[in-house]
Amino acid sequence: MGLLKGKVALITGGSRGIGESIVLKYAQEGADIAFTYVSSEEKAQAVVKKAEAFGVKVVAYKSNAANYTESEALINTVVNDFGKIDILINNAGITKDTLMLRMSEEQWDQVIEINLKSVFNLTKHVLKPMMKQKSGSIINMSSVVGVFGNAGQANYAASKAGIIGFSKSIAKEVGSRNIRCNAIAPGFIETDMTHVLTDEQKKAYTDNIPLKRLGAGDDVANACVYLGSDMSVYITGQVLSVCGGLNI
Ligand code: NAP
Repeated sequence: MGLLKGKVALITGGSRGIGESIVLKYAQEGADIAFTYVSSEEKAQAVVKKAEAFGVKVVAYKSNAANYTESEALINTVVNDFGKIDILINNAGITKDTLMLRMSEEQWDQVIEINLKSVFNLTKHVLKPMMKQKSGSIINMSSVVGVFGNAGQANYAASKAGIIGFSKSIAKEVGSRNIRCNAIAPGFIETDMTHVLTDEQKKAYTDNIPLKRLGAGDDVANACVYLGSDMSVYITGQVLSVCGGLNI
């Protein structure tokens, strides 16, 4: 359909799961794509091949989103390689689930650094080129857990709630420069992150979802197409839930 034709997107964590779905959907819609990974070199190259089949430019970069200096270097490299960045999708994230009484300082710090500080790192450095070109769309991957909380995920919920406050603040700071910033709050999406759950646990979640199924990466990727495209030019500072109605 070409909804993203002529646009350049940078997507963190594009080697697997939701990030891979976003890369492929964006390629299908005509965007040129830079995406990152930290360890899945082979998977990343396989995603590049699949996405290139849509006739767009795709490059995978090994870059730790939690690292401030690496993130600055990444933005500079992508602007150099692609000429601009129209859309930034802060998708990279991890879980280190456990109850509060058992949670170590390391489990807290890792989740906050990879899920939340990464959003600061990439946004901070992409704003300069976006301000120069007087346009941009930033999409941050939050979670329904950031809105409602979840036992055993205090670190993860705090990081995802932080992303919502961050996104709304950035929307207010840079709206006058024609830069938009929104968050997406997925519900339960089938990826490596959720494969650790037993069938019984999955059934219990499904029973509570009005649409009676778990989500797919493509469900989230479609929302990313909308928020990255010019279809959403008057939408900023919002949280779009992609959760099958789990939050109603
Ligand atoms: P996933 O399947 O575990 O994939 C995670 C991706 O993030 C991989 O590409 C991984 O790269 C990358 N990554 C991890 N740490 C990174 C770092 N420090 N720097 C750069 N990239 C890094 O996860 P997912 O389920 O697709 O989740 C994607 C996002 O959606 C996350 O922010 C997650 O919190 C959010 N989310 C997921 C769900 C769900 O149900 N799955 C629900 C709500 C929100 P490597 O392959 O190299 O490790």
